[in-house]
Amino acid sequence: MRCACISLGKSIVVLAIFLLLTLPASAQNVVFVVIDGARYSETFGDPQRTYVPAMEALSHQGTLVDEFYNDGFTYTSRAIPALWCGSWTEVADTTYEGIDTQYAVDPTIFEYYRKQKGAGEDSCFYVLKYIFSLWLPSFHQEYGPGYWPTIHSEGGSDIDVLHETLQVIQSHHPQLLWVYFADVDHEGHSGDWERYTRAIQIADSLVGVLWGALQADPVYQNTTTMIVTNDHGRHDDEHGGFSGHGCGCDGCRHIMLLAVGPELRRDFVSTRTRVLPDATVTAMHLLEIRPEYSTGAVMDELFESTDVASRKAVRVPAQFTLLQNVPNPFNPVTTIAYSMAKPGTVRLAVYDVRGRLVAVLRQGYAGAETYRAVFNGNGFPSGVYFYRLTVDGMQQNRRMTMVK
Ligand SMILES: [Zn+2]
Ligand SMILES: [Zn+2]
Repeated sequence: MRCACISLGKSIVVLAIFLLLTLPASAQNVVFVVIDGARYSETFGDPQRTYVPAMEALSHQGTLVDEFYNDGFTYTSRAIPALWCGSWTEVADTTYEGIDTQYAVDPTIFEYYRKQKGAGEDSCFYVLKYIFSLWLPSFHQEYGPGYWPTIHSEGGSDIDVLHETLQVIQSHHPQLLWVYFADVDHEGHSGDWERYTRAIQIADSLVGVLWGALQADPVYQNTTTMIVTNDHGRHDDEHGGFSGHGCGCDGCRHIMLLAVGPELRRDFVSTRTRVLPDATVTAMHLLEIRPEYSTGAVMDELFESTDVASRKAVRVPAQFTLLQNVPNPFNPVTTIAYSMAKPGTVRLAVYDVRGRLVAVLRQGYAGAETYRAVFNGNGFPSGVYFYRLTVDGMQQNRRMTMVK
């Protein structure tokens, strides 16, 4: 009897893991970039865009929020958790794995994503420089450590962080990637204007390189939204100037928000006033997750279509549907079905987790019906693969797992 119980328990665990792995993946990826402590007057508040030429160029492919504000605490230890949570969460002290640190009380975007999507830890990455006592996501009873992102804390500069980010992109292709650049705030505190503005120029160029890398990657290209913002600004010149921050002056509160992605308006400047938690809740909306404990609002005005029903139509083009492969996980053969509502030129291809082409399953003209293509993973290693259906230039991606 006892043995039977144990083996039943094991079967349930195996079944639960199987169900988690078979949940369909979202077609949208989000890359969220935080540039710590850049003042608006040196980013998009400067009509010449002197220090942000790369983001200036990107803004013509996306939307700029001109009236975006930190509406709470204008320092990093509260504003970063607020960005994680989409709310001005409380933070609390703790000792975690022997190190004194703080955690966010409300659940974070990472936890919402992983729990609601049934997604594994490599679906969600937080990349930042090496920090000894990392601030932590929540211990919320419904979310918590089982849903934290993979925290990749390496290197010492923003350039190192970009390098690590590119590695993470190549080897894991997370669907939610959070990148934190710390140098602008650090250099601002030095009080040296040259160093401060140089750090902004570097962060700007890194954002440009990151977007270029995403667009060169078959998994991310045309399916990824990047949001770039700040946790806080810096004092305006009447309140102490750029070497400090932390008060309620306009310099500390006014921050930038740039969003670029397939569903967002292009070359658009929004003048509606928005606040810091709205950035995260908009990211959650893109990822199709519920911001249960967040207080922010979705910034509808950034989207190509503000009507939710037609937004769905933009996201999942009515002309074709790509279904989750069956079975998934598979060993080594699986079937991928797609249906065409009207005729078009089709390409169905499989990529490995590094974005390298593995197989082209279909290529050519297809009429309006449902098709099934078989992928045989013989000769390829176990792991995560992506398959992409392109129809007349529009595309959908899905993720699948081969377990041998
Ligand atoms: Zn600071
Ligand atoms: Zn201030």
